[in-house]
Amino acid sequence: MKAVAVFPQQREVRVITDAPEPRIQSPTQVKVRTREVGVCGTDKEIIEFKHGAPPPGSDHLILGHECLGEVVEVGEAVKGLSRGDWVVPRVRRPCPHATCPPCRSGHPDFCITGDYTERGIKGAHGFAAESFVEDVAYLHRVPTELREVAVLTEPLTIAEKALRQLEHLQERLPWKIGPGRAVVLGAGPVGQLGAMALVRRGYATTMYSRSPKPNVKAEASEALGVPYVSSKEVRPEELVRRVGAADVIYEAAGVAKAALETLKALGPNGVCILTGVPSQEEPFDVAPVLKGVVLGNQVLLGTVNAADVDFDMALEDLRHFQARWPGQLERFICSKHTPEDFCDVVTGKKSGGIKDVIRFI
Ligand SMILES: [Zn+2]
Ligand SMILES: [Zn+2]
Repeated sequence: MKAVAVFPQQREVRVITDAPEPRIQSPTQVKVRTREVGVCGTDKEIIEFKHGAPPPGSDHLILGHECLGEVVEVGEAVKGLSRGDWVVPRVRRPCPHATCPPCRSGHPDFCITGDYTERGIKGAHGFAAESFVEDVAYLHRVPTELREVAVLTEPLTIAEKALRQLEHLQERLPWKIGPGRAVVLGAGPVGQLGAMALVRRGYATTMYSRSPKPNVKAEASEALGVPYVSSKEVRPEELVRRVGAADVIYEAAGVAKAALETLKALGPNGVCILTGVPSQEEPFDVAPVLKGVVLGNQVLLGTVNAADVDFDMALEDLRHFQARWPGQLERFICSKHTPEDFCDVVTGKKSGGIKDVIRFI
């Protein structure tokens, strides 16, 4: 079968045609034919050999962690899914240690040992193949009306988990009423989906991103009713003067300096949610920023991966987004790419949309 694989030792990424067709091996497993695989910055890090690892004993890792597929076969003990259903799989699987409370209680996204696996990223093959087999416990059924956009489920779960954490955190402010103001830093797919989730929850949201207008990301943001401000043209202090201090900053840019600079726009008792993974950057003085965090009773929240409830919530939110902004999610997606295009899409040479998607079949 055809699959997109990275060979870390040979420093190679290529389409292979001899990947073994996976078979159902336990009664709770499901075989899924892959339809679409979204690509993101994590894939870029993997194909640049900065991140990720093949399964033990394998010289390669099949890529792909954002997936939409169609059920083609179910094990005899599978309930709730049948042939012809469309599904999205979760990414992370628990570590084996009895001493890891998060993994033992169904929250591998909070694993404390680091020995979890992630399909298409760390220690387990991904979904960028013609088909895959997965336990029914890690699959979420996609309603028919969401088939065109459900490849966005996994990137949306980042916001779902973050906003669920935010609710818990803000219980520390018992007098707080209303959601307040949010600034989203970075207008890529995670930022756009995060903005939609924030708007749905009632936040007066502003998109804050590097490129000056006009550009595709600004147009997408403004189509949501979310004003777009370029960080090249407007400093965080000026942003506060224009729209007020933020109660929440949702960082989705993966640039440390930009994230810390934008903290100047965070108001007292605010929360800054960090979802991007910054690469190595020039050192700079963080003391003034940390001073502001202390004197403002602020919270810096890092978040990664997501739990099953976040996938359920993401599917519910996608349905809401489609009703509120008809056609908008479809406009995010560019799905004309083939598996052979994987590298060019990930590195931006063949990028065509806010969210680039590889189509299988
Ligand atoms: Zn991703
Ligand atoms: Zn664990």
